[in-house]
Amino acid sequence: MYINPTYAPLENRYESMNYVRCGRSGIQLPQISLGLWHNFGGVDPLENGREILRRAFDLGVTHFDLANNYGPPYGSAEETFGKIFAKDFRPFRDELILSSKAGWDMWPGPYGDRGSRKYLIASLDQSLKRMGVEYVDIFYHHRPDPETPLEETMGALDQIVRSGKALYVGISSYGPSQTAEAMKILRKLGTPLLIHQPSYNMFDRWVEDGLLDVLEKGGVGCIVFSPLAQGLLTNRYLKGIPENSRANRRIAYLNANDVTPDVVAKVRKLDVIAQKRSQTMAQMAIAWILRKPAITSALVGASSPEQIEDSINALKNLEFTYEELRAIDEVLVG
Ligand code: NDP
Repeated sequence: MYINPTYAPLENRYESMNYVRCGRSGIQLPQISLGLWHNFGGVDPLENGREILRRAFDLGVTHFDLANNYGPPYGSAEETFGKIFAKDFRPFRDELILSSKAGWDMWPGPYGDRGSRKYLIASLDQSLKRMGVEYVDIFYHHRPDPETPLEETMGALDQIVRSGKALYVGISSYGPSQTAEAMKILRKLGTPLLIHQPSYNMFDRWVEDGLLDVLEKGGVGCIVFSPLAQGLLTNRYLKGIPENSRANRRIAYLNANDVTPDVVAKVRKLDVIAQKRSQTMAQMAIAWILRKPAITSALVGASSPEQIEDSINALKNLEFTYEELRAIDEVLVG
């Protein structure tokens, strides 16, 4: 694979992307953002990741999402990003929104997991070194931790912003009432919650049960992860399990057992609806997420530059008729 060592992003890169205000903040996010959970680890070819990031930025994706433990091995996605950033993106730092997170297991012992002030602050310091940046734009607590008082975790987020190591804060996978509580504490501290990062896709609709209402009322943005259900809601598995697919990698979160006949049958039916809309299955799944006004951005993954390009083309048709939405619901329940 030949990659031009000098990167000059496309001049018209802001023309085809939509930018959406994140809650009631000053920040706008691209309607499609790119996550580096998979395909950017130490085990993955760096030049492929580099091509994906370049294509994304050329098409107006200004937001890249990371976390301390993305890889494998843990930390290596941030290291990969750091190498690519140093080569290609450093001159464009002020055009980028970079995020990282801590909350899941990262290092051994009692201080490398969950929600303590000790863990969050130490982890962000490590992330900044791996990525080779002075600050992240958004720092998240990655998951709720019932063992740590919420005041301590939110206090750590506030302290991180005051120290200049992050500009905004977010939470991920918190339920509706925990989110309302976190919002209240952060507002009191003077560091309002910018954004929530929950899972949401046609197969996983928990956010419709209260969370989106809490966010909308509170003026908090929402960026949804795994909008393609890790690839299930695409044409990837309609003819079996491809060798180079996520379900075929030895990763605990998606495996061949998830590609059930029921899932494939549903996706086949959904794909017929997508084709009638002149969209790929992935594009329809993304457009379907974005139909909700509470959603700021769909946070997709990609294993090739072609996939991120295909996903961004979802923006060409975001409207759904009532009949289309009903037909989709019928497939999903039935
Ligand atoms: P997706 O649901 O978008 O799945 C991405 C996978 O779908 C790709 O790796 C690829 O699979 C396949 N795919 C992507 N685009 C296409 C396309 N156009 N056509 C066909 N197949 C396609 O998201 P992820 O699960 O990767 O999550 C996205 C991001 O969300 C993560 O990178 C991370 O930043 C964040 N995240 C956050 C979590 C949290 O707890 N806060 C948890 C999980 C994710 P293949 O590799 O097989 O080609």
